[in-house]
Amino acid sequence: MDRHAPYLREMGLTRWRFGARNTDTVSIHPDKEEICQDPGADGNLAKLASLAQEAERCERCELHRTRDKVVFGSGTPAVRWLFVGEAPGAEEDKQGLPFVGRAGALLGAMLTSIGLSRKDVYIANVLKCRPPNNRDPFGQEVRECSPFLHKQIDLVQPAVIVAMGRFAAQALLNSDQSLGQLRGSAHTFGEISVPLVVTYHPAYLLRSPAAKSKTWEDLLLAQSLLV
Ligand code: SF4
Repeated sequence: MDRHAPYLREMGLTRWRFGARNTDTVSIHPDKEEICQDPGADGNLAKLASLAQEAERCERCELHRTRDKVVFGSGTPAVRWLFVGEAPGAEEDKQGLPFVGRAGALLGAMLTSIGLSRKDVYIANVLKCRPPNNRDPFGQEVRECSPFLHKQIDLVQPAVIVAMGRFAAQALLNSDQSLGQLRGSAHTFGEISVPLVVTYHPAYLLRSPAAKSKTWEDLLLAQSLLV
């Protein structure tokens, strides 16, 4: 039995869809020698750690009053994929880590469906602190917190960004278009034009499993943008 099959089932995908394109994903794993030969990775790792400490002390917006832990992000600068969500939830706020709990498990399944694991990606949110009762982020909070995400992108230097959910997509693309308008095509982020693909947030997929197959198509689109 194919080792990806359980994850494809979790993604709501049938085996007939698991064809040659997905087999190709094996080749997109970061090459370990390439990682070791990247002289900038160690320096950027230290800079990310320093940025995380800055976020720990951040009081730029009111969310610092209600947070338990700052959720800065997880991963290393030696990866090619950056996944960006909206904001920490209750479990993330407790643990200080992004995408734990059910949404995190589904994100893991999404990654595995295209031949990746969490060690192959950097994961972050637009907001580093939890909005009370998981309310939508306010525009001012996004504006205050976005410099952290932009610096993370500078330091990770991903080959492709996957924006999960409307808030992440709108924040990264500086757009007010809906998720439906933004997904399904390739965008770019920033002056260095990092390829960016918009997809559904895993928390939405838990509520609307029918969208999982569209998410897989989005991930394949992102994969096709890797050079
Ligand atoms: S959400 Fe961002 S800007 Fe607001 S306090 Fe937390 S780290 Fe600072």
